[in-house]
Amino acid sequence: MKIQNYINGEFENPIEDNWLENYNPAIGVVYGRLPNSTTEDVEKAYQAAATAFLSWSQTTLEERSKVLSKIADLILDKIQFLAAAESKDNGKPISLATEIDIPRAAANFQFFANAITQFSSEAHESIGMNAVNFTLRQPLGVVGCISPWNLPLYLFTWKIAPAIAAGNCVVAKPSEITPMTAYLLGEICTEAGLPKGVLNIVHGLGNTTGEAIVAHPNIKAISFTGGTKTGAYIAKVAAPMFKKLSLELGGKNPNIIFEDCNYEKMLATTVRSSFTNQGQICLCGSRILVEDKIYDQFKKDFVQRVSELIVGNPSAENTNIGALVSKAHLEKVKSYIDIAEAEGGKILFGGNKVVVKGSENGYYLLPTIIEVSDNKCKLNQEEIFGPVVTIMSFKSDAEALQLANDSKYGLSATLWTNNLNRTLQFSKQLQTGIVWVNTWMLRDLRTPFGGQKDSGVGREGGFEALRFFTESKNICIQYE
Ligand code: NDP
Repeated sequence: MKIQNYINGEFENPIEDNWLENYNPAIGVVYGRLPNSTTEDVEKAYQAAATAFLSWSQTTLEERSKVLSKIADLILDKIQFLAAAESKDNGKPISLATEIDIPRAAANFQFFANAITQFSSEAHESIGMNAVNFTLRQPLGVVGCISPWNLPLYLFTWKIAPAIAAGNCVVAKPSEITPMTAYLLGEICTEAGLPKGVLNIVHGLGNTTGEAIVAHPNIKAISFTGGTKTGAYIAKVAAPMFKKLSLELGGKNPNIIFEDCNYEKMLATTVRSSFTNQGQICLCGSRILVEDKIYDQFKKDFVQRVSELIVGNPSAENTNIGALVSKAHLEKVKSYIDIAEAEGGKILFGGNKVVVKGSENGYYLLPTIIEVSDNKCKLNQEEIFGPVVTIMSFKSDAEALQLANDSKYGLSATLWTNNLNRTLQFSKQLQTGIVWVNTWMLRDLRTPFGGQKDSGVGREGGFEALRFFTESKNICIQYE
């Protein structure tokens, strides 16, 4: 299977004819290749985008909205095909790709198809000065979108949809580890009638292709989702050019459980928030903090539920935990498990790789629960981004809050309680961009999405995304 760049509406080989290998993590074999693009490919994509911008930025909102809706419809029409492709490329269970990843990619386009028709700006009458101010919100021009491998089409489209809805043209790069559905999106855009050059998809490595996008002097903004270290590096490259940046980075999210919660719902949701997508979601609740009164009960029940999860080939309908995305990532996750005991942790469940019958060379790991007692340990401070959670107990609200905030990350937190005062106290004081109370990963696309501290800067979602992808200009008119 040969993946090509999508530039100016055409599929093309990379200029230097250099290629990378694409792996199927479920069986650990190469099943295709993708362009190892260079600065020249990025330049070509930029030129196409810059030319397309002249007309795309002048299309009516209805026209843009119609094309975005059409893309959403086509994604849903091809849901089985795209879900199978995503599952094969990433290792995620086919059920997850079918129920979450692909429908959400369609929803991203549909949401911004609607949102752009409602987007408006403010006017301020300067009373006593005979003046009226209004704010023009104009598209930025050519923007860059760079996305990670964990939710490939879901996160790729989360950036592209608002960018083009707002009238920009895009040079985008998916993760080199999971390029397949981004490639397929090119065909869908052509079929939907998206004009040539509005979206250009360039494949390649982060530190060459990705960096060429970030360093391009005329690409006005970068929307990036990925690791914190990469985000910091991108900020350094982009800062001297004063680019607009939206950085959605790593997380080490607390899942805080109080005795007074709805126990059954909490338990079922905690299994999901720990291990969905093999724990490879930035929002997973990887630090489970449990009130001491129910700690022993929780420990027993949680281990029992997790032991029932089926680790298997992602294409099997009953698989709960598929393959990790790559061999390198599997080894990285395993290296954290290997230091657990030296750090004073106790493995309550899992801890080992799994050999799946018929897929012996795939990258499988048992869901792993580690009991820890010191929040300063690496397992609790570093993002593992795999099927590994820690659990520890707390005695009071103050201790729970202190533990939850004792992290350099600040993406999301989940709180399980039925106490209203506690809910509001925690909601106010948790240092995270998102707080879920008695639920997890319930997303309303109108809400601002993003993190505090090392989890990033800027917010995506809803009008926040449309504000990011536009420049506001104050027009002040005095009348006589
Ligand atoms: P990386 O930071 O390694 O990569 C993300 C993207 O950036 C990839 O497309 C990558 O390309 C590219 N890239 C890498 N280096 C550069 C560079 N110097 N310049 C420009 N682009 C570059 O993250 P992962 O793909 O490993 O994704 C996992 C991380 O993403 C986790 O930390 C996770 O928490 C975070 N994440 C955050 C989310 C959020 O909303 N806050 C949501 C989902 C994930 P390539 O793959 O080719 O290296």
